[in-house]
This record gives sequence, structure tokens and C-alpha cells, in this order.
Amino acid sequence: MLKAKLFGSSGIRGIVNADLTPTLAVKVGLAIATFGKKRKVLVARDTRVSGLMLEKALVSGLLAGGANVYCLDVLPTPVLAYLTKRLNADVGIMITASHNPPQYNGIKIFDANSTSYNEEEQDKIEKIIKNESFTFAGWQKIGNAFAVDGKQKYIEAICKAIKLRKRWHIVVDPGCGATHSIAPTVFRVLGCKVTAINANPDGFFPARSPEPDVESLVPLAKVVRELKADLGVAYDGDGDRVAFVDEKGRFVDFDHALAAYAAYVVGQNGGGTVVTNVEASMCIDEMVSANGGKVVRTKVGDIYITESMMMHKAIFGGEPCGAWIHPKFHYCPDGILSSTLLLKALEKEEKCLSDFVAEAPKYAIIRENIACENEAKHKVVEKAAERLKSAFPQYKDFSMVDGVRLSFSEGWILVRASGTEPLVRLTVEGKSLKHTKEIMKMAVEGVKKSIAEVKK
Ligand code: MG
Repeated sequence: MLKAKLFGSSGIRGIVNADLTPTLAVKVGLAIATFGKKRKVLVARDTRVSGLMLEKALVSGLLAGGANVYCLDVLPTPVLAYLTKRLNADVGIMITASHNPPQYNGIKIFDANSTSYNEEEQDKIEKIIKNESFTFAGWQKIGNAFAVDGKQKYIEAICKAIKLRKRWHIVVDPGCGATHSIAPTVFRVLGCKVTAINANPDGFFPARSPEPDVESLVPLAKVVRELKADLGVAYDGDGDRVAFVDEKGRFVDFDHALAAYAAYVVGQNGGGTVVTNVEASMCIDEMVSANGGKVVRTKVGDIYITESMMMHKAIFGGEPCGAWIHPKFHYCPDGILSSTLLLKALEKEEKCLSDFVAEAPKYAIIRENIACENEAKHKVVEKAAERLKSAFPQYKDFSMVDGVRLSFSEGWILVRASGTEPLVRLTVEGKSLKHTKEIMKMAVEGVKKSIAEVKK
């Protein structure tokens, strides 16, 4: 049985051999080959245990539909996206579950322009799969599969775009994910001194969670401190997100890094539009507007950031999970590119990372996740809207661009269903921690009551 909706905000995502089986992967391959008669298709995967199994099935479906397939082996998602345009492919397909635990995998589709499929395109693929309206090629027209190595083209492109003067000492932590070899290589080619940790590919992610955060990067922070390195960088499982550790061995808050880099880009361009999502801290608004720029907010998910960036001709975009988009290069969030561009920014500003982010205003921001079944999570958020409005009658603004967002004079609250996991996510930001905690406590109660109500 297929789930009610196959595609979420990051393509297809699910537990392997339960939600996401090879049988489904064959159908996805056939549907992509059928949709728009795609002839040249690139396929890559992250280091997950199930990657090869799903790749073989997906490629089988593509070949049966008459597409020629170029298999790129293990690569970060942004490298696959970049190569899709660079190698003039019709479509690029990435087998990854990004930052999710190892039992998950997923399929994300990019078009010839390196942008991920939008909702409309995904719905068309989904319809072909649901109706099984596949077009099989005649036996003489079955596609061919080729193994190709595309890494070098990406490395050359980065090195052409970025030149560094200083020999930075960087500690790189790929977390056993898709950036395991290409990230250390890029920094070395740029002339950095590189210390790599967790740089062996391993789909069980034994060293740390594939989601880089303050807890999972404790070992990286320690190495940066002990070696007195200039910077620590870590990527998620598929390398579209980046997290930083400063020269003092401290994890850099995602919102502060995003706001400081956005303000830098706006400063360099003498103004411009920056796109972020509804979850980002209000510090980005303050820093960007102080430099003469403007912030546009979208739903959570890089698809929406990309669409909005194209629409507003934005000069930079990003989400506070470390997914940054640099439109001069391409429209896929790119962790490796982001980290090299940050080094360039530090050189230009003649600052160490702690100074670079120090100007970001520090507000209290608390995030909490509450487990909630996928089938119920959207209904729970809807119910929570009314509950929150009456619990916080002092709200100034109410928005449902994504989930429920209420803002007050001193901060805001956001309740939304996760795009990829069975969770309801709560975010509260305020000027004092005490006040923020109080608001969070009331919001959690409201959401829990809504879950109980939906379950009845
Ligand atoms: Mg990712």
C-alpha cells in the first residue's frame, strides 16, 4: 500500500524496506523516465547501507523506461545537483535521507537547471506511480547504464570561484556521510591545512548522528580546541547542510552564522533580498536591514527557499539548519560551497569566526519536537492554531504560511508539522530566556491537548 502522499518537502523519505522498498524505487525510476520522456539521467547516493540496493532498483526502472543512466556512486546532494546542469542531463536523482537516522532513506529529484522538483512536478510523478501509467520502452530501446566520476568537475568549479590567501587550518567532520572524501579534498586543493575526522564512509553513522548539531559535534569542537585550528566544519549525511565550530572550539549557533553571512553578502552587494524560512531567528532581519537589505520568509524546506529566491532575484538564501543557497553558483543548498565561501568572507573581513558572528543579536530561541503520527500531524497543527490564539490573546500577527506562527512585540512562536518525520515542531523566540521558556511551556501544553483531541 502506498502512503497517501509519497513526496514530502524533501522528495520521498521513509524507513527502508517498510516505506521505501526496492519495488517502489523501480516504480519511481519508471515514472521519471515516463514523465517528459527523460533521456539522460544522473544518479548518485549518500553512504547509507540501503543506498546501493535502492540505486540498482531505481536504475532498473529508468532503463526499462528507456532512459540512459549515468551512475556517479557516492556523492553529496549539491554535487549531484551541480553536475545535472553541468553535464547537460535532463534530470538528476539523489538517493539520500539527508540528516535522518540510518534506517531511513529517500529519493530527491533535480531538474536540468539544478533545482529540485517543485510540488507540481512531484505530483505528476506521484500520479504516474499511483495509476501505474508507465511507458515501457521496446526491447531495442532499453537504456544504457554508465559509471562516471564527476567529482573533479565540481572541485575545479569551486577552485575557479574561490581563491584563498591564507593557509587556514580546518578540521573537517563529514560524519561518515557523502562528503567523506570530496570535502577534505576541496579544502586541500584550496591550500588549507586539513585535519579530517569521521571521514570514512559508513552507512551506520557510528561516529555521530548524520545531523550536525551542538551535541553531535562535541568531538569536533574538542579536536579544534586541542589542535588550535582556525575553524571546524561538519556536514549532514548528504552534504547540503553545514555547521561551524569557531577557533575557540565553540559550536556556532546556526541562526547567528546565517544572519552574519547574510549581512555580509548584503554588505558586499550594497543591498538586496535574502530569503529564509519562518523558523529563522529575528536576528537575521535586524542584521540584514542594518546593511540595507531585506528579508523574505517562506515555508520550511529548500524547495520553497529556491522558488522564492528565483522570484525575488535574491542574492542569498538559507535556513537555520545550515542549508545555505548561493545563486551565483547554483540553486541547491551546498555545505561544501558554503564553508569555502565563509572562509573567503572571513579573509575579506579580516576576522576570525567568533568575531564574524559576534555582531548577531542574541535572543533566546528554544526548539522542541513532540512525537505525532504522520497521519495526524497536520490536523494537530490546525487544532493547535485556535488553542494558541486563545492562550496568547496578546499576539500581534498571525500567519499560516507554514504551520501556525504568532508574533508578539518581544518575540514569536511557531508550531508546524515536520516535512519528513512523525513530529510536530515547536519554536519560540524571545528577548529573555525566562519569558521564552514560559511561552514554550504553554505552547507544548496546547499541542499535547490538540494531539489528544485528534486521537479521540
Ligand atoms: Mg541534507
